[in-house]
Amino acid sequence: MRKSVLILLSGITMAASSMAQTTEGDPKLTEVWTPVPAIVTPGSANTAPSDAIVLFNGKDGSQWQNKKDASPIKWKIEGDALTVEKGTGDIQSKKSFGSCQLHIEWRTPSVVVGESQGRGNSGIFFMGQYELQVLDSYDNKTYSNGQAGSIYKQFMPLVNASKKPGEWQTYDVIFTAPKFKADGSLESPAKFTVLHNGVLIQNGTEAKGGTVYIGQPKYTAHDAKGPFVLQDHGNPVSFRNIWVREL
Ligand code: MG
Repeated sequence: MRKSVLILLSGITMAASSMAQTTEGDPKLTEVWTPVPAIVTPGSANTAPSDAIVLFNGKDGSQWQNKKDASPIKWKIEGDALTVEKGTGDIQSKKSFGSCQLHIEWRTPSVVVGESQGRGNSGIFFMGQYELQVLDSYDNKTYSNGQAGSIYKQFMPLVNASKKPGEWQTYDVIFTAPKFKADGSLESPAKFTVLHNGVLIQNGTEAKGGTVYIGQPKYTAHDAKGPFVLQDHGNPVSFRNIWVREL
């Protein structure tokens, strides 16, 4: 007992003396007291942080419209989920966003139909054009830069953190909007940091341009903000608990 107290005391003395050596001068000079970060009440499993904009809370699709003609969406709302209704088209958020934090939950069908890109395919387009791929990538071979968590056809995810078909999965994304110079050329690219089910899969990945299916992506100057687009790829993929924090 006495021995452990002595060890503890000598540890404190050593820590204090090493601090004294490294902090000559006034420690107050490096303290920042103002401004003070805003207070945000964190969310829980089913709720958003207090400063988030909720795009889908399980009840209605009023924050969304058809991409094609801005008409009311025809996707299905069942339980707390919004599900792709095949052939009704992509939907887009009514609000536009630039740099942001996005939380979104998605689920591919529990009954596996199809393979490769034909299995549980959807996608989340930031600013209407940079696609973070949604796909059933649980034991489903496809091109790596087209699997779940890829920046579609540009960058594969660092790892495959997919859950089984029919299980809810999460994406938490920090997105930095691209910037353009006055002449329309690129100043800084779009950047993605993505956690898939809590696992880091994109780490500050710089997009090569807007998503294209064929050919090489390139940047075309656009507004500082754009809508989120969710893709109708013909598979009944579901979404829930969608919220955004503007950065
Ligand atoms: Mg897709």
